[in-house]
Order: sequence, then C-alpha cells, then structure tokens
Amino acid sequence: MKPFGTKNIVVLGAGESGVGAAILAKKEGWNVFVSDFGTIKDSFKQELTDYQLEWEEGKHTEERVLAAQMVVKSPGIPDKAPIIQKLKEKGIAVISEIEFGGYYNKAKTICITGTNGKTTTTMLTYHILKKAGINVGLAGNVGKSFAKQVAEDNYDWYVLELSSFQLDGMFEFKADIAILLNITPDHLDRYDYQFQNYINSKFRIIQNMNEQDWFIYNNDDEIIEKELKSRVLAIEKAPFSLTKELPQGGFIKDKQITITTNKKQFTMSIHELALKGKHNAQNSLASGIAARILEIRKETVRESLSDFVNVEHRLEFVAKVHGIEFINDSKATNVNSTWFALESMDKPTVWIVGGVDKGNDYSELMELVKNNVKAIVCLGVDNAKIIEAFTGVVDTIVEAKSAMEAVAYGYRLAKKDETVLLSPACASFDLFENYEQRGNLFKEAVRAL
Ligand code: ADP
Repeated sequence: MKPFGTKNIVVLGAGESGVGAAILAKKEGWNVFVSDFGTIKDSFKQELTDYQLEWEEGKHTEERVLAAQMVVKSPGIPDKAPIIQKLKEKGIAVISEIEFGGYYNKAKTICITGTNGKTTTTMLTYHILKKAGINVGLAGNVGKSFAKQVAEDNYDWYVLELSSFQLDGMFEFKADIAILLNITPDHLDRYDYQFQNYINSKFRIIQNMNEQDWFIYNNDDEIIEKELKSRVLAIEKAPFSLTKELPQGGFIKDKQITITTNKKQFTMSIHELALKGKHNAQNSLASGIAARILEIRKETVRESLSDFVNVEHRLEFVAKVHGIEFINDSKATNVNSTWFALESMDKPTVWIVGGVDKGNDYSELMELVKNNVKAIVCLGVDNAKIIEAFTGVVDTIVEAKSAMEAVAYGYRLAKKDETVLLSPACASFDLFENYEQRGNLFKEAVRAL
C-alpha cells in the first residue's frame, strides 16, 4: 500500500523502468535514492540529474537501501540477488515499477502476458486503440516507462506488456482487461526449475480482477486450460480458439474470424489479416477481442488488423533475392516460437538455428523439420545438440560462425521459390550482443547479396 507522509523509497536498477519509477516517486513526495550495481547508461544519468534525483552506481550501499520503507526493483534483478534477500529478511516491500505506477494511475489498463507474442499483441492492440482515436499510452516491456507516463501524461487507457518478472513484483495492481496468450516452459532458472512457479507468475495477470473486468485467454493452450480448472474466477471470460467455436470470445472457422463480446458479433476473413501464420492469428484474435470489448467500431478494428506493420525481428520479411525469400525471426529465442515459425513455412526452407540453448527439447520440432526443412545452417558457438538432434532427419547440416556466413550458406542451399528462415530457438549472446543485433546483421547480409 502506498504509505502516507514522506518516506524513503529506494529504486534498484536505473534503466527505463527504474528511472521512471524514481521520477514518479519524487513527484509524489517520496525521498528517493536510486542504486544500480552495474554501470548506469549516460542518458539515464542525465535524466536522474535533470530531475535532481540522488543515485549511485557500481554498488548498493546497504545502510541506504535497507533504510527504505519500499523498494522498486528492476525486473532484471533476480530474487536470489543478495540485496533482495536482505530486504526480504527485513520485511521491506519489494515491488515492480508497474505496481508502483499502479498506485497513482487513474487510467484503465489492458495488460498482456504470455511466453510468446507479448510484444506483437501489445503493439497491435495499441495500434487499434490509437486508430480508434482513444487517448492511449504504451508501456511495460515496450516503449517508455509506465511510471514516468503516470507522472507526466494524462492517458485514458494504457496497453501494457508484462513479463513474468514484472508480474512477480505486482500485488495490488489490477488490470481492467487481461490477455494471457500462452504458457510454455521458459526462464525456469528464475523459478527454481518448477514450471508451476512460472505458471503461477503468469496467472498473476488476473489477480484482484472482478466481474466487471475481462480475461482474454488462449482456449487451445493445455497448460492454461488445466490451470483454469483449479481456479474459480469471478471475471468475465473471453477465450479464443483456432479449433473450437466459442459463444463468447473469438474463434476461426472456414478462414473466418468471429469475435463475440457483449452479445455483439464481428467477423472478418483471415486473408485480410496483416499478420500471417497461426500464432499471429491468435495474436490478432486477442487484440481484436480487446478492441471489441471497448466497443471500437467494427470498421476500425477490421482496418487496423489489416494495415498493422509488424514489429522488427518477428517473422519479418527481409527481401526476395533471385526468387529466394529471406525471413528474419531473430526474436525466436525458444523452441515454441520457432515451432510457429516453421509451422507457417509453406515452401521448402533452409533453417538457420542455434545460439545459447536454454534447455531446448528439439523433438517437438521433428515433424515440422521433416516436412518443411531442406537444410539446416547452425549459427552458434556450440552446435553439437542441434547436429545430434537432426542428423538423419535433414540431409544437409552445415555450421556458420557469423550472420554473413549463415546467409551465404542459405543463398547457396536454397533454390528459387524457397525460403531462408532465421529462427534460432536460442538466445543470441554467444555470437551477438542481443537478438536485435543478430537480426540486423542477418538483414544487412541479405541486402548485400
Ligand atoms: P514476446 O514479446 O512474448 O517475446 P514477440 O511478439 O516478441 O513475443 O514474439 C517472439 C517470438 O515468438 C517471435 O519469433 C514470434 O514470431 C513468435 N510468436 C509471436 N506470437 C506468438 C504466439 N502467439 N505464439 C507463439 N509464438 C509467437
């Protein structure tokens, strides 16, 4: 609960979310101290100075941190970090920036989580609301800090992308509309290797919600279905499915989307959707349902779902070179997102895969690889697991050590009317700084062909 009177707040981690939280805290009359164990980026240092905020870097001064009544923690800092353990021992509340922003926020929120598809669905939902003329802000894992916008802007709605790490620091926050896209094992190192802990974290998206609020979720996801059976929810439900007709929510049948909310129906052909592939059909359904709950005009929803330009590095079409299509899906850092990429390939595909494996089980991809993949280009420092998994399944498996080399192999191995797909199923930091750099180098190499 937000305490009354002037109290000490410490913000741990001075990135986009931490700096934003500090700005809001100062505005609301807290004594603020920002502490970052690493190095703070120059732009954030400048911002802290501009707002006359006190900060330190390269350490956490314990007396200062432990003197706080409340601590806002960056989602990047794990609960196991010694300073967090000490705070917990002392019973000091440790919350996320979104929770803190929520104490002062007056706008309504659409909150989006899931293992995959968060950014896409968040951007798509934001796009529809914007096009409908709603005074809407974008925050969470994307865009500007939520807390900073709460301090300085005056929106009626927010679309928030929430990771499980952010959700872990949320207690009193309540979404007006919650979207849960899917749950597959990920980040288990932060959840004591217990999948259930990660599931619980994702379900925090609906905490505190009541009958007036809406829960949009993937009805085809077995994990979500199973979890729902063990919970009693007094929330309005709007599930979506690619296989089953549903009376409320959305589904796809005979290549047509049907969305039903408040007994009103909206339909549209899937051919008109800007985003292709099954996973994107799910994302479009989720965003479309949210928009219709807000009673945005059918025409506007239809238009927005068909003119949306996808975010970079997610099944992004790069170029066609001599009839070979190159697709950048560098953001696919786990097996599940790559599954959807391979599933949406309708031509023989040279698949570029590899990087830092987070405990991947490649057997899930076997059928798709057999059917859709003609050659594999491994792009990682250690490719042994991939080579072992697919030897005998795919005839040609080669290894590359740079995006340029991988693209050169792709160009050599694919023929006209075939596809070269970068969908690594792995994190990028063995050969690259991050997935963005991996995707950008891939695109540069394609454009240089
Ligand atoms: P997130 O923000 O959750 O990481 P993104 O929208 O950035 O999700 O997409 C990450 C990866 O997952 C991309 O490779 C994308 O093609 C794939 N993807 C997008 N939506 C879904 C979905 N609904 N289910 C599975 N994979 C998806």
